[in-house]
Amino acid sequence: MDPQCTAAKWESAGFATRAIHVGQDADPATGATVVPIYATSTFTQSAPGKHKGYEYSRSGNPTRTALETCLASLEHAERGLAFASGLAATNAVLASLLQPGDEVAASADLYGGTFRLLERIFRPWGVTPRYTDDASAAGFASIVTPRTKLIWIESPTNPLLQIIDIAEIAELAHRYGAKLAVDNTFASPYLQQPLRLGADLVIHSTTKYLGGHSDVVGGAVVGSKELLAAIQFYQNAAGGVPGPFDCYLVLRGLKTLAVRMERHCANAMELAQWLQTHPRVETVYYPGLPNHPGHAVAAKQMRGFGGMISMRLRGGADAARAFLPKTRLFSLAESLGGVESLVCHPATMTHASIPAEMRHARGIDDGLIRLSVGIEDVADLRADLQAALG
Ligand SMILES: *Cc1c(COP(=O)(O)O)cnc(C)c1O
Repeated sequence: MDPQCTAAKWESAGFATRAIHVGQDADPATGATVVPIYATSTFTQSAPGKHKGYEYSRSGNPTRTALETCLASLEHAERGLAFASGLAATNAVLASLLQPGDEVAASADLYGGTFRLLERIFRPWGVTPRYTDDASAAGFASIVTPRTKLIWIESPTNPLLQIIDIAEIAELAHRYGAKLAVDNTFASPYLQQPLRLGADLVIHSTTKYLGGHSDVVGGAVVGSKELLAAIQFYQNAAGGVPGPFDCYLVLRGLKTLAVRMERHCANAMELAQWLQTHPRVETVYYPGLPNHPGHAVAAKQMRGFGGMISMRLRGGADAARAFLPKTRLFSLAESLGGVESLVCHPATMTHASIPAEMRHARGIDDGLIRLSVGIEDVADLRADLQAALG
């Protein structure tokens, strides 16, 4: 069946309905209600070149098609591609859109692995990354040159939860003949759909909110058929594909994305408001707080403010070091976006791949703590933080 056809059928349906149904019609061969895990590397042909749309699972697999079709629908994209990880997706975008001699403009507050990929793989290859601490249109305008082919942003950013005005940066990118790619991992398509704000490509680490249960590593890219054709060519040629079981896990996660995000947002808002009044807490970074500098833009471009909170304790690095091992419900672990709450120390964990000097200049010092607020009972989460704060 043509996945585009099944997607068109659901066009007017709401988000939660599409998350559960798009790309997930009953299996035509057996009637299975849930998309089967097509654990097969190859597909039998009736005559050479005569097949049912699948030949070899690097090039395509029905479980993966279901996930890709659903993801495209959730982001209002023409097409989606699933990858083995968020970084495999990022790599495929960079490698298929850029040539040596090109430049990338990125916000300085960036996922550590994206920064490492740009600096250690793409810079030696001949692509020049430029970064701006000021993520406004004026800030990006100051680093864009005639060689800039791509602007790369996250919003909310990791780990400082800055908000970037996506529509404004899309307009700037297009004025300079560049494309805008948005890493939408922190918001998820439930809270924000960057393509509708003018972005050209959206990248996800499906490891996080989309999978939602901390049991799978995956990535995705969605956008126009035209841009995705080049990225699919690269993926098939270079091979960063997800297995069918991983696709099944992400697809299963998507079914509950809407209800999970509602609870992530509600829990995070309540904890952020409470932390802000806590005597041991110096600063809370959460875009849902009216005093957050990005609050108005977040309210404009997002449906909710997400489940991520960063904070600084009074007493800086020493206070953070004392706090981190004490939480019981919040596990000290990298990653985010799962049903369970996690706490992390960006300077020594997720952002350790950024040189210390640069990290400190960006405010990612040893005193910064990042919380991924899960969907447990919020009273238990608050009690856990209260006990650890002492
Ligand atoms: C985790 C993450 C990535 C990388 O994804 P992997 O699935 O770990 O490869 C990229 N961007 C953001 C914002 C992330 O949080």
